Amino acid sequence: MNLILMGLPGAGKGTQAEKIKDKYNIPHISTGDMFRLSIKEGTDLGKKAQEYMDRGDLVPDEVTIGIVKERLSKDDCKNGFLLDGFPRTIAQAEALQQLLSDLGESIDYVLHVDVPEEKLVERLTGRRICPTCGTAYHIEFNPPKVEGICDKDGSQLIQRDDDKAETVKRRLAVNIEQTKPLLDFYQEKGYLVTVNGNQEIDNVFEDIQKKLVK
Ligand code: ADP
Ligand code: ADP
Repeated sequence: MNLILMGLPGAGKGTQAEKIKDKYNIPHISTGDMFRLSIKEGTDLGKKAQEYMDRGDLVPDEVTIGIVKERLSKDDCKNGFLLDGFPRTIAQAEALQQLLSDLGESIDYVLHVDVPEEKLVERLTGRRICPTCGTAYHIEFNPPKVEGICDKDGSQLIQRDDDKAETVKRRLAVNIEQTKPLLDFYQEKGYLVTVNGNQEIDNVFEDIQKKLVK
């Protein structure tokens, strides 16, 4: 199963990806997570990505396409993959088409998790993540069992720098502008399926499973 998750920041892509990955046994490939890890490790990639991320801008296509290409060629993608946060531009989408066709592969579905814009600010500003395993919680909608502590590994939860109110608005604006042409791109190719992301987390996942027939 070769899948792409689409949706604005805060739509619940990461949250659903964790469930999809376990159920369909495919790796969850999040370009945002890959960049955050590189920043934490202080690699060259991290240094390149950080200035863009801190501003809420997109990292340049050549950098982003390069890391995805490398990742998709790894063995664990033989059974399929779940891309989250990529592609974000038409140039990335076109590069992905080319890359998959070179590998003799194609996309099965582009899952669009649809949430009204006005819900996203509160989802993002209330998001807390585990710096160790990446799990996302929400202070109100999806709290951990013990406040501020990851259920899975006991780490102290943190707020992403770009989830602070000032950056959130900018990130949303950048994304809204860029998502529309991508949805059109995949609609035209016949890959696009939309699920209502404005419901309980488990209900969103139920809907996703109904759409993913192969
Ligand atoms: P994305 O990866 O699309 O940016 P996340 O999966 O990190 O989004 O979710 C954003 C925030 O919203 C997190 O705090 C998460 O716990 C919360 N969240 C995710 N899905 C839902 C939902 N269906 N209802 C309410 N809150 C949700
Ligand atoms: P969100 O979807 O919640 O904004 P992500 O974790 O997907 O956050 O991405 C965080 C940041 O990483 C983005 O604001 C951007 O700077 C960078 N990034 C992630 N994916 C891409 C991509 N495909 N192209 C360019 N920049 C990206």
